[in-house]
Amino acid sequence: MRKLTEPLTGALLYEHRTIIAMTHIYCAHHHKQAQKTGPLCDDCGEFIDFAGFRLSKCPYGQAKPVCQHCPIHCYKKDMKEKARIIMRYGGPRMLLKHPIMAIRHLWHARKPVPELPKKRKRAH
Ligand code: SF4
Ligand SMILES: [Zn+2]
Repeated sequence: MRKLTEPLTGALLYEHRTIIAMTHIYCAHHHKQAQKTGPLCDDCGEFIDFAGFRLSKCPYGQAKPVCQHCPIHCYKKDMKEKARIIMRYGGPRMLLKHPIMAIRHLWHARKPVPELPKKRKRAH
């Protein structure tokens, strides 16, 4: 498992929890048909660890946009594709299973992408 560079807090922690919830929906329907409440498969577990790691390094910090609208998009190619597949499947189903998280994510997605903080521009 990748180590987070710093523990996630606030909006970053909430976003990670949202990603985890979507990944559980996706994994339960595609990889763990018999264990809908069981643990994630190795691939999906690796994905949420990767997402958490990227969140912990996100140059926008707490002001981050949704990753789909991010001009940097720091995900490596295979993880970006996995994120797209999981969001497309899990996103609509979140409304039934986790409506508050889903609505909060939709609301967040409507916000404009903020300026990259100056002190972080060079660090990324
Ligand atoms: S894709 Fe963009 S918003 Fe998402 S974690 Fe990476 S830098 Fe931050
Ligand atoms: Zn899985």
